[in-house]
Amino acid sequence: MLHHERLRPPSRDYPADEWNVIEKGFHPEFLAQLETMLALGNGYLGMRGCPEEGGPNAENSTLINGFYETRPIVYGEEAYGFAKTGQTICNVTDGKIIKLFVDEEPFWLPDAKLLSYDRRLNMKSGTLDREALWETPAGKQVLIASRRLVSFANRHVAAISYCVTLVNAEAFVVISSEMVANAPTAYVDAADPRQTRAFSGRVLHPRSSYSKDRRVVLCHATEKSRLILSCATETALETSCPHAYKVVHTEDFGQVAFTINARPGCPIQLSKYIVYHTSSRASAEELCGRAEWTMDRVTTQGFQQLLVAQEQYMNDFWRRSDVRVKDIREDRTKRTTVEIQQAIRFNLFHILQASARAEDVGVPAKGLTGRAYEGHYFWDTEIYLLPFLIYTSPRLARNLLSFRYKMLEQARARAREFGHRGAMFPWRTINGEEASAYYAAGTAQYHINADIMYALRKYVQATGDEQFLRDCGVEMLVETARLWLDLGFFSDAKAGKFCINAVTGPDEYNTVVNNNAYTNLMARENLRYAAQTVESLRATEPDAYNALAHKTALEPSEVESWLHAAENMYVPYDEKLKIIRQDDNFLDREPWDFRNTPSDHYPLLLFYHPLDIYRKQVIKQADVVLAMFLLSDAFPVEAKKRNFEFYDPLTTGDSSLSSCVEAIIAAQTGDTEKAIRYGMAALLMDLADVGGNVKDGCHIASMGGTWMMLTYGLGGMRDNDGRLSFWPRRAPQDNAILRFPLTYRGQMLEVEIGVERVEYTLREGEGLVIRHETEEVQLTREHPVAVRSVSRR
Ligand code: BGC
Repeated sequence: MLHHERLRPPSRDYPADEWNVIEKGFHPEFLAQLETMLALGNGYLGMRGCPEEGGPNAENSTLINGFYETRPIVYGEEAYGFAKTGQTICNVTDGKIIKLFVDEEPFWLPDAKLLSYDRRLNMKSGTLDREALWETPAGKQVLIASRRLVSFANRHVAAISYCVTLVNAEAFVVISSEMVANAPTAYVDAADPRQTRAFSGRVLHPRSSYSKDRRVVLCHATEKSRLILSCATETALETSCPHAYKVVHTEDFGQVAFTINARPGCPIQLSKYIVYHTSSRASAEELCGRAEWTMDRVTTQGFQQLLVAQEQYMNDFWRRSDVRVKDIREDRTKRTTVEIQQAIRFNLFHILQASARAEDVGVPAKGLTGRAYEGHYFWDTEIYLLPFLIYTSPRLARNLLSFRYKMLEQARARAREFGHRGAMFPWRTINGEEASAYYAAGTAQYHINADIMYALRKYVQATGDEQFLRDCGVEMLVETARLWLDLGFFSDAKAGKFCINAVTGPDEYNTVVNNNAYTNLMARENLRYAAQTVESLRATEPDAYNALAHKTALEPSEVESWLHAAENMYVPYDEKLKIIRQDDNFLDREPWDFRNTPSDHYPLLLFYHPLDIYRKQVIKQADVVLAMFLLSDAFPVEAKKRNFEFYDPLTTGDSSLSSCVEAIIAAQTGDTEKAIRYGMAALLMDLADVGGNVKDGCHIASMGGTWMMLTYGLGGMRDNDGRLSFWPRRAPQDNAILRFPLTYRGQMLEVEIGVERVEYTLREGEGLVIRHETEEVQLTREHPVAVRSVSRR
């Protein structure tokens, strides 16, 4: 089922552009959405797209990945093993405020008479740029040009260039560069479980504050999670207009206020540098010292240098990752090629912003664009995001998998708490402990264990990083395989097949079910991969195998039992309909009455009691259909078609993780109409607010899904069997061309898919063997290009 685009700002004011998301007029009604869409981040630090002047804003968050506070989870009724501690990402010190006063008149967007206004998320330079011409009530015209960046090269740094020029008169100008900690946070709708939890009272407790010339440093700590944060700002001013400044600071506030006698045509150039450091170990003194070292370095470099580094980083990113389209047929997509190109880049850019410098942390469901889902890490990372990272920035993929490995000890402890063998990764977390307060749609999603192992396999196959597999991967494989074996059993009621009961699959509208097909299929992969990896280690590297066996107390017989369970895995199937049953009882449930469900009652979870939903045949997000994409080779196209035709009408798409997957299966099964419609919904999920909650943050998983849709869906890419192959379908457009680069085993391949031909080019590397349909294609330094025709199917 499709949801429709909601954010419809007048296109006059939001013109399409291939490299920019542009806002031409100030529209307070889209404030919250634009804060999300125009947010900047680098995976460590994130700033929502609020105006420099400190407002107006809907939610003015500055977030640091993994900087959270805890609170006890209060249950009306306790039960054994419930997650005890909630973890919530918190707002850190807002260092980006620059207030402007002209003859004591504040520049405040909603009240200002704007002669022109242009704000743009510049995806080529990785900046947020704004130019406004303001006429004060006294008729003085003021040109304000600003540029903001959150540095990719130095993850601790953000910077703003803010230039004010009086056009037609002289004036007394004050520019106040401020920083604020513990500012009141936005209203949180407690009835929406997807939103963040609010803390009552102060979250950041002062540890130290001081100023040195135009540098102000504020240091705070959280009370329970015991994390320390230092934030330093320094502001430089260049102008030939006479000026002076004053510095003020308290424990939660810092200010450098410049007073300037501005002359017409004489620019006042302000550069503000903002530095954040966080730690769970360092003392407040040390952390302030670190912030100052970083500040010394960036102020010596200057804004221009930061910008050059940012542009270089972006160039390199686009070289590895840009997906380009040409000649889209507009009548089918209802969008121009430029709009589609913009949407593709917007999605990829936000993935970069969510993950680039996520080091020793995960990627929150909303990246760092909003506090929804409390800054938690979910399976979104492994299933939706990692494929893109594996094929464009494998080092980032490795970082994220290493982070899971670091959680392994906690995962083992959680399994012990449940009386399970092996390891049980948390459904949602920041610090490695389970933070899901609703076990039915949380902890019960055991599939996360198999999802992580699925991503591990993809990573190892695409990069050839056997070292990572040996050092970290195999241990996770052993422990997750043990978990599955312990969780399931050979059921007499199912002819001795291996069954896994009381779990929740991806579809959160059917919880705690028996034999969720997705879970069983993915667990089977997990068990097989574990057995195969351990066996191969034993055969080829006996020392490494012995070390593993010693560390994990592994018995050789375990491997056999994993294989036995895998080969006997029960996958519920309906002989009459010839489809996989989503779980043992899914088909027994009463169909949901879609006809009498008002269109404003989606997502259902906000309008119906869970029991009402659970007892009906209704699906939140792709489940069986997702398995058919992830394990594509295991299902013939007719099976995909039958299952898709059955499950699609029951799927609400209430989760943004759905449309991209449905688009892929629609493309694979030749349903062009649906592939386009779902594809557009996924592509525009955030740019056109398809889910209606962009205000709360970007849908990072769906953004990753759009890349999969373009490569696996339209490009017909397959990698299930460890080989890279392409089965492009004839493009649904007349002359359309799709072009994307892939990093594969340290080399770079570019694939260009036209209507009838595909061109494979080895851009970097010594040589590569890929497959086009059933044919092997060799690309070498001498013959880097191969052209093949797309067969009619
Ligand atoms: C989805 C989950 C997802 C979570 C975070 C939920 O609405 O059902 O699959 O992990 O959002 O994105």
